[in-house]
Amino acid sequence: MRGIALSGEIRFLDTTLRDGEQTPGVSLSPEEKVAIAGALDALGIRVIEAGSAATSAGERQSIKAVAGLGLDAEICTFVRAKASDVDLALECGVDSIHLVVPVSDLHIERKLRSDRETVLQTAVEVTEYAKDHGLLVELSGEDASRADQDYLSTVYQAGIEAGADRLCFCDTVGVLVPESAERIFSRLSTLGAPLSVHCHNDFGMATSNTIAALRAGAAQAHVTVNGIGERAGNTSLEEVVMVLASLYGIDAGIKCSDIYQLSRMVSRMTGIPVAPNKAIVGENAFTHEAGIHVHGLLADTSTYEPMSPETVGRKRRIVLGKHAGRASVELALKEFGLAVTDQQLAQIFSRVKELGDKGKRVSDADLQTIAEIVLSVQKEPKVRLEELTVVAGNTVTPTASVKLQLNGTEKLEAGTGVGPVDAAINAVRRAICSVADIRLEEYHVDAITGGTNALVEVWVTMAYGDRKITARGADADIIIASVEAVIEGINRLMQLEEEKANAAV
Ligand code: MN
Repeated sequence: MRGIALSGEIRFLDTTLRDGEQTPGVSLSPEEKVAIAGALDALGIRVIEAGSAATSAGERQSIKAVAGLGLDAEICTFVRAKASDVDLALECGVDSIHLVVPVSDLHIERKLRSDRETVLQTAVEVTEYAKDHGLLVELSGEDASRADQDYLSTVYQAGIEAGADRLCFCDTVGVLVPESAERIFSRLSTLGAPLSVHCHNDFGMATSNTIAALRAGAAQAHVTVNGIGERAGNTSLEEVVMVLASLYGIDAGIKCSDIYQLSRMVSRMTGIPVAPNKAIVGENAFTHEAGIHVHGLLADTSTYEPMSPETVGRKRRIVLGKHAGRASVELALKEFGLAVTDQQLAQIFSRVKELGDKGKRVSDADLQTIAEIVLSVQKEPKVRLEELTVVAGNTVTPTASVKLQLNGTEKLEAGTGVGPVDAAINAVRRAICSVADIRLEEYHVDAITGGTNALVEVWVTMAYGDRKITARGADADIIIASVEAVIEGINRLMQLEEEKANAAV
C-alpha cells in the first residue's frame, strides 16, 4: 500500500457534534460544543458539522454559538430535504448545509413512504432554495451503498445542476468493503463535483472503506473523534489521519500532536469511554508489558511501535507484569526519567521480582517507591492525610470531611457523593484542586480474602496533564483504602510534575 499516491488535497468534515452526538445517551451542552469545535478548528479540520438545526431550539442555540466563534473552519448543519429545515439552518448563521436525502428504495419506500421521482424533485428544490439563500450545499445520499447506483448518479447529477457544491456518499449501515468503495468512488469521481465519503463502522470497516474511497477520488472524509456515532460509530478521525500520515506519508494539514488531547476531551464531555485497545487513542495503544518486547523497545522503540507515541501527543507506558524482565524495569525507569547504574538496576529488579512472586501487580507507583528506596531519594509526600470523617446511611447524603497537610499547610475540606467512598474522594479532590487539576480516571477494588473483615486493595488510575499513573491503597476499611490510593496517586503525580519542571530548567 505504501507509496500509492492519493491525488489532490484531502479535507475532513468532522461530525462529532452531529453524528457523534447521536451516540445513544450523549447530549452536549452549548459550552461543550463550543469547546470541541474550537479544538477541531485548531487541529486543522476544514468543515465542522455542528449539529442538526431541526432537532430543537437548544440545538440551534449550540449551532449558533459555534457559528459565531469566527473559526477558520466552515460551519455546517445537517438538514433534511425540507425548505423549513433550511430556514432553521439560516437562523443559526451557518456557512453550509449537509442536505441528506434517502436514496435507497428501502429508505425511500419504507421510511419516507415516497418514491424516487418525488425524492429527486425535492432534493433539487431544496438545493436551489438553499443556494438562493447563500448557503454552501453538500448534497448527501443516505444509504447510498444499498441504492440503485444509476438512480444515485441521477440524483447527484440533478443536484450539481441545481447548484450543489459538494456531493456525499453515505454508507449509512456500514456495508461497504474496500473493493466496492473503490469501484463506486472511481465511477462517481467523474461527476464533476467534490465528493465526500461518510462511513459507519458496523463491520469495523469504516477506516478501510474511507481510505479506499479517498484513494479512488473522494476529496473529503467525514469523521468523528474516537469514532463515536450511532451504533458501532463512524469513521474515526484519528485513525484516518494517522493512516494517511504514517502509512501513506500524506500531510492532510492536521496537527497530529493534538489528537490525544482532543480524544480525551471528547471522551470526557460525551461520557463515552474509549476502549483500551482502540487504535491510536486507546489506553493500551502505546503500553508495553512482556519482557521480550520491552527488550526490543529498549534497543529501538520502532521494533514494537509503528509510530512514536509523541506523534499523537502521548507517552509510552511500561507495565510490569509478573513476566517483567530486567529490560522492562530499565525502560520503565527511563520513562520516569530515572537513570540507574547496573548495580542499582539489579537491586531494583530483584525487589520487583519479589513482589511479582507474591502474585502482586507492580504498579508504576510501586516501581517508583522501590527505585526511590534503592536510590535513597525518597521525598517527603506533598499531601498527607491527617483526619477523615465520613457520614453515611439510608437517610443522609453521604458526606465526608478531610484534614490534609498540603505542602506543609493544613487544609480542611468537605464533600458529598453518591456513597461514602465517592464523598471522601470528592473531599480530597476539593482540598487539592487549588494546587493541581488531578483527574481520577479509573477505580477498582479487590477483596484480598473473603469475608467482610477482609483486607481490600483499591487501585486507581489518575492523570495530571498528559501524565498517567496507577496507585494503590490497602486497608480493612474500603474508604481508608480508597483515600490512601488517591492520596498516593496525587503525591506521585505532583512529584513527577516537579521533576519535569526541574528538568526543564
Ligand atoms: Mn451517519
